[in-house]
Amino acid sequence: MSIAKYFDDMSYGLSPESDTEARAWLARHDHSFGHFIAGSFTTPDHSFQTFEPATGKPLAHLARGTAAEVDAAVTAARKAQSPWAKLTGHARARHLYALARMIQRHARLIAVVEAIDNGKPIRETRDIDVPLAARHFTHHAGWAQLQATAFPDHAPLGVVGQIIPWNFPFLMLAWKLAPALALGNTVVLKPAEYTSLTALLFAELAQAAGLPAGVINIVTGEGDTGALLVDHPGIDKIAFTGSTEVGRLIRQRIAGTGKSLTLELGGKSPFIVFDDADLDGAVEGVVDAIWFNQGQVCCAGSRLLLQEGIAEDFIRRLKRRMDNLRVGSPLDKSIDMGAIVAPVQLDRIRALVAQGVAEGATLYQAAMDLPTNGCFYPPTLLTGVQPAHIVAQEEIFGPVAVTITFRTPDESVQLANHSRYGLSASIWSESISLALQVAAKVEAGVVWVNATNLFDAAVGFGGRKESGFGREGGREGAYEYLKPKAMLGRKLRPAQPPITARSASIADFVAPTIDRTAKLFIAGKQARPDGNYSRPVLTPRGALIAEVGEGNRKDIRNAVSAARKAEAWANATAHNRAQVLYYIAENLSARATEFASRISAMTGQGAAKADAEVAASIERLFSYAAWADKYEGSVHAPPLRGVALAMHEPIGVVGVICPPEAPLLGLISLTAPLIAMGNRVVAVPSAPHPLSATDFYGVLETSDMPDGVLNIVTGDPQPLAEALATHADVDALWAFGSEALSESAERLSASNLKRTFVDHGRLTDWHHPSAEGADWLRHATEVKNIWIPYGV
Ligand code: NDP
Repeated sequence: MSIAKYFDDMSYGLSPESDTEARAWLARHDHSFGHFIAGSFTTPDHSFQTFEPATGKPLAHLARGTAAEVDAAVTAARKAQSPWAKLTGHARARHLYALARMIQRHARLIAVVEAIDNGKPIRETRDIDVPLAARHFTHHAGWAQLQATAFPDHAPLGVVGQIIPWNFPFLMLAWKLAPALALGNTVVLKPAEYTSLTALLFAELAQAAGLPAGVINIVTGEGDTGALLVDHPGIDKIAFTGSTEVGRLIRQRIAGTGKSLTLELGGKSPFIVFDDADLDGAVEGVVDAIWFNQGQVCCAGSRLLLQEGIAEDFIRRLKRRMDNLRVGSPLDKSIDMGAIVAPVQLDRIRALVAQGVAEGATLYQAAMDLPTNGCFYPPTLLTGVQPAHIVAQEEIFGPVAVTITFRTPDESVQLANHSRYGLSASIWSESISLALQVAAKVEAGVVWVNATNLFDAAVGFGGRKESGFGREGGREGAYEYLKPKAMLGRKLRPAQPPITARSASIADFVAPTIDRTAKLFIAGKQARPDGNYSRPVLTPRGALIAEVGEGNRKDIRNAVSAARKAEAWANATAHNRAQVLYYIAENLSARATEFASRISAMTGQGAAKADAEVAASIERLFSYAAWADKYEGSVHAPPLRGVALAMHEPIGVVGVICPPEAPLLGLISLTAPLIAMGNRVVAVPSAPHPLSATDFYGVLETSDMPDGVLNIVTGDPQPLAEALATHADVDALWAFGSEALSESAERLSASNLKRTFVDHGRLTDWHHPSAEGADWLRHATEVKNIWIPYGV
């Protein structure tokens, strides 16, 4: 070919990365790997074969973790945990820093092994996955160093089980291990069956870096091995990234065990382009949103929402760009897309695209020759898609974008939020006010303005709705590997006796008993219970004091609907929310004597204790009024041209099951932080002593609290908690009571993967200062990280 010809067609030549070192590493291991347990590799007994996605050739034999092996790994992690946690923060920081340096020193080997094992382009493993993994260890070395001053009231969780997927095998490993180790936990990690090699390579590097035995353990295997880890009683937390289906299963399996859980699941993220956007910039954004990593990205911008005026032009420019993308060998440095991870994923992509076409979408695929062997799929665009189509709803997890048009900003928000997922969103507009207005309204854990798929160790990542819960990265992610010291050693709550009135005795004739039947409180009004049943409220000796409504599922539905309608509370200013809480405190204070005598009558406590409970309730209302405008977000400074605003947002509609004890203080301690942060609440008060809540209606009615912000349904906590847990329009559930209550709240919440906050039947000292403050406010908020361009 003449030089002139090269100038004419400007085509790329091959630019292959050498795989000699990586193949030599595989050969050194005879292409066969055991688990990494207690600081050394096991001999693989039961193994399975993995394949190279780009060629289909066999790659390695990996051990399939058995129950005994998982147990050995958990035992090793348990043994190492206490000495690891007892190291000084500085000593742990040095270990993490050593791991970061090790990654940097072996960066190219890791990048090549990853590209071979997963099929992703070397350009991405070399420039994104591996440097970012090193950054996670460096950043979290910092949290280890600062742990004693940054988190003085928190302790590590213990032994953490981590289960990661195949789309970012090495990055996910770093993302999970770094915060866990930094804060004094030890880990058993199960990589995905397709892509375990870089985890095993990392184990080798950690061994060489002198990480103490048992601090990390890697057990390879398939889903069954993951399930063994989830079920193991020696695990204190599961951190999972993967499909929503498996996430839901895990939520159900560990319900009631006391294990913590974070779930980072799927997404169908909107990529919104307004008509004032820099269109060429946005086209490049789409390339990074959906063709990065072959679209196998949980936060891929897979739904292109285009404003009508620019849609046609944008699609034309996008198609032209698609035609210039290159798909090929992952080890070719000049390709844009590599191979899909496995034939089963390729089949899934093909089937979903065929379904999209059958539903009426128009298919466009870049004109290109794909490699004939291996799992390859071209960049794909489906236009003319309707919001209800399967391809607009389901995560395709491949290089397939769909387009939908909209007219107004409000319509774009409606479309963006029309999804069971809520992981991320990308917003393109040259108008800062428009972009930030929409950023505030999209239901997502991460929002990028005029950018997409930006990640950093200092910035929390995670979703809402069926994209899971919990954050990874930054200060918000650190808390996911810690527990408040005040929660340690709490006693089990004594079993509650059944509420049955004894027959009247002569003593009952001393004073009048039944004065009225208290109703429910829904949408700012007192409402009769749907079933028209009531339940008794007794003195400690069993005499009847009053009756309250027996709320049922229908009452819960009405209360949830009232709470949903009170959406404006979320947008009330923090100052305004504080004013209402102060006003409630003022009105409660005016009736303090009456509330105290009611507490005495129900609980049998002496006047001094009852007075103290009312006084503490008033003080707690003041505290949360104070916090309302002080529990602010923060600004993260990632090493990019921009900042991330970590905004504290309300979760939405939250169900609250109050504990049996402390009838007034329990109610206030659980509802006030939620209300202060802009949530709307459906509360079920103390079952044996509900009158503090029903008396509270009068306080609410005179305190300018908008209707529907706090709704109260009296009744049996167990069925009412079940109704709340299974309600699709409830975003979170707090359940304080019996162990069985916690178990069912966690298990049933899996329906829409709502967040839960439960006490596993353990008593809280409601008078203690630790029963209020930031730990509670964290449960009452979602952190939304909004990345915005900033600076030069
Ligand atoms: P999975 O959710 O099945 O896999 C994620 C991890 O969980 C893997 O390590 C897997 O092991 C493990 N696992 C599987 N079943 C169980 C179980 N019952 N208990 C504990 N651990 C388990 O995802 P897939 O790999 O099957 O991918 C399927 C779909 O999930 C994709 O098409 C995509 O839509 C979505 N997905 C989303 C990801 C995200 O980042 N949000 C990442 C990966 C997939 P093993 O690999 O052996 O199956």
